[in-house]
Amino acid sequence: MLELTDEQRQFEATIREFAGRELAPEIPARDREHRPDPELFAKLAALGIPGVSIPQRYGGAGLDWIALGLACEELEYVDASCRTALSVHAGLCLTGIYQWGTEEQRQRILRPLAEGRRQGCFGLTEPDAGSDVRALATRAHREGDAYRLRGQKVWISMGDFADVILVFATVDPALGLRGITAFAVDRELAGPGLRTEPIKEKYGLRASDTAVVYLDDALVPAANRIGEEGEGFKVAMSCLDSGRYCVASGAAGTIRACLDMSVSYARQRRVQGEEIGRFQLVQQMIAGMARDYDIARLLWMRAGWLKNQGQRSSRESALAKWVNSERANRCADDALQVHGATGFSEECPAARYLRNSRATLIYEGTREVQTQLAAEYALGYREDRPVRCPLPAWPNEEEAGSEHSRAPS
Ligand SMILES: Cc1cc2nc3c(=O)[nH]c(=O)nc-3n(C[C@H](O)[C@H](O)[C@H](O)COP(=O)(O)OP(=O)(O)OC[C@H]3O[C@@H](n4cnc5c(N)ncnc54)[C@H](O)[C@@H]3O)c2cc1C
Repeated sequence: MLELTDEQRQFEATIREFAGRELAPEIPARDREHRPDPELFAKLAALGIPGVSIPQRYGGAGLDWIALGLACEELEYVDASCRTALSVHAGLCLTGIYQWGTEEQRQRILRPLAEGRRQGCFGLTEPDAGSDVRALATRAHREGDAYRLRGQKVWISMGDFADVILVFATVDPALGLRGITAFAVDRELAGPGLRTEPIKEKYGLRASDTAVVYLDDALVPAANRIGEEGEGFKVAMSCLDSGRYCVASGAAGTIRACLDMSVSYARQRRVQGEEIGRFQLVQQMIAGMARDYDIARLLWMRAGWLKNQGQRSSRESALAKWVNSERANRCADDALQVHGATGFSEECPAARYLRNSRATLIYEGTREVQTQLAAEYALGYREDRPVRCPLPAWPNEEEAGSEHSRAPS
């Protein structure tokens, strides 16, 4: 479980090299200027990253869940906004369509997304429905072979760039959670009833697009409904299992970045004639980062290993997301502190890590929601039952092994 295969190791090295070459030079300016990169997704697609854990027969790279986690960790080590784009595409959008879509939908809708020809995102949150999905108000009305969607989604990562938005709407508010239904809203088919608008001047993740999605009778063919009417809540929760896994593995990248930069600075900055790394209170912060990196890596790998077995990982993914996001935020704060006033300047990435990691305490279930989940599992108020649409175990017979998988190089 803990040892990477040669293929995973090679993949990790490829992503690391890509992030250092393509993302690192640009990200300070893009962050400063609140500027998402419209070419980013195409760059990821050239490496086969968008469909990394989707089987080749649906257009993916045919690698496993650990590879997706490695990609998230390596991307966030350099650029959390890039990891967010991958999370919402691969974790939240593709997994839902893969798990709950029909064979025809996997070929027609999933394939171009997995091949990186089209970009996906996930639209659950509304102005009055964040943590409380029950309050979701976007309506879906069936009209013959299509649905009309009316409502508003807010804080949708990559909403302005996505070709396909996995939108959750209710077919009947009186049914509560059992009315919620998932739709793959295709920008090319939705007509003028679909409009997106960027949210400007965010506190963090400034190089990431975050949008408001307006649905004014947006058209969705009935063939783009994912799962049955009323199954949308289950679809959303299984998407979040994978999305949280991506957030957790990404957070490990932030922690490692904080550790590396703090070690490097503590070895060269001298105060009272000593390297600051010799001071115990500085050592305490660095020790915390080293500890937190190992914890974070182990937690996301455990969830990835379960996913590779085709097992449900709701508890483990939520726990990894909770612990890793909190620790990443704490490590970013400590990294800033280790750098003194230098850490307070824009030339030092610690402030960017601090702002970016703050978002992970909010999205895909706030810190408080994750805390509540952990307590409910511990108290026995909540337990994971097998899902109706499980992930296929990995490696599977059809595509196992390096000779079949299309590992990006
Ligand atoms: C940068 C960013 C990107 C995002 N991307 C997406 C995306 O791609 N798709 C998408 O659908 N959404 C996205 N979101 C939205 C995000 O998922 C929601 O903001 C989140 O679910 C919280 O909802 P809310 O903001 O309405 O807060 P609320 O639900 O209004 O919560 C407010 C406060 O109350 C607390 N609270 C709520 N319920 C409880 C409870 N039961 N017990 C204790 N405390 C509670 C919360 O923890 C929080 O502190 C994004 C958000 C951000 C910031």
